[in-house]
Amino acid sequence: MSENRLQEAINTLKASGVRITPQRHAVLEYLLNAMVHPTADDIYKALEGKFPNMSVATVYNNLRVLREIGLVRELTYGDASSRFDCNTSDHYHIICESCGKIVDFHYPPLDEVESLAEQVTGFKVSHHRMEVYGKCEECQETATKKH
Ligand SMILES: [Zn+2]
Ligand SMILES: [Zn+2]
Repeated sequence: MSENRLQEAINTLKASGVRITPQRHAVLEYLLNAMVHPTADDIYKALEGKFPNMSVATVYNNLRVLREIGLVRELTYGDASSRFDCNTSDHYHIICESCGKIVDFHYPPLDEVESLAEQVTGFKVSHHRMEVYGKCEECQETATKKH
């Protein structure tokens, strides 16, 4: 666990004048440790033992605050629930089609795609999103064992 990243995030919270409640602290700490892009429900389940009075709504509310100050990124996938990512640097995602796990990987940002899109469509591009799909190592193993 990177104590520095947690401390940095807390400093950002303080600088934005956001109150650091124990629950908010726990949500942030959980996100920084989780490398799998959890849903609000995952976070709620992981923390409910520690905070019996906390509701899923509280988790959502905390995530919204963290997102507004730029500490957390929300990834929406159609009708499935949102995933939350505390890695706000530029990176791409690969998604397991079996278990839904999302893993980060780095690749130079595809700036050429953005400028080409601007040229051919006249849009002012704000960002792009690219996802790679497949089957993670664990799911490949499970599939092999079954046969
Ligand atoms: Zn998988
Ligand atoms: Zn990510």
